[in-house]
Amino acid sequence: MHILIVEDEVQLADALSEILKRNKYITDTVYDGNDGLDSALTGIYDCILLDIMLPGMNGIDVLKNLRKNKISTPVLLLTARSEVEDKINGLDCGADDYLTKPFVTGELLARVRALTRRKGEIINENSFTFSDISLNKNSCSITCQNNDVKLSLKEYQIMELLIANPHQILPKERIIEKIWGYESDVEYNNIEVYISFLRKKLSAIGTNVAIKTARGIGYSLEEVNL
Ligand code: CA
Repeated sequence: MHILIVEDEVQLADALSEILKRNKYITDTVYDGNDGLDSALTGIYDCILLDIMLPGMNGIDVLKNLRKNKISTPVLLLTARSEVEDKINGLDCGADDYLTKPFVTGELLARVRALTRRKGEIINENSFTFSDISLNKNSCSITCQNNDVKLSLKEYQIMELLIANPHQILPKERIIEKIWGYESDVEYNNIEVYISFLRKKLSAIGTNVAIKTARGIGYSLEEVNL
């Protein structure tokens, strides 16, 4: 899950990023509206936290531009208590929800979870299943029957992406964008290394699930030996 934070109060922006990272989200932070729009237009994010009063371009205009460009990423507006008009205006312009500053961590996380909730096979927000495996966010591990294995953070993030898109070929390029960000210099062979770790771990827990290679393109999560 990749979240863009657009907030010019540096302390608040960094605090948001810290909270989200601690909860296993991947974050990118920008501090003005123009950078916010540029980043958001890439379409790689699962959710955008968007302040309204921003230098450069204000949040409402960022939002209008995004929707005009057919980017439908869920947007959570960050508003001050006094900005009631902006709040209404924001919802009219295509924001999905808003959060009034100051807010408590639990509320932020609940709203982000609601906006990023996927259709399909979610038991609860801390566990994703596919076939005979479940991926557990809190323990950063995969379980198959009574076996489980710990994952590194990157392994977890790749696995989460695969489980969210089962039977679909995920191009390596897209995995890099989703996990490391749009302008990262991660190379294909870095991904290959993580995939080989994940394959060893999947085989260690005796699952029917395997990561298949689509030669020259990427990977997909499949059931085998059924
Ligand atoms: Ca602001």
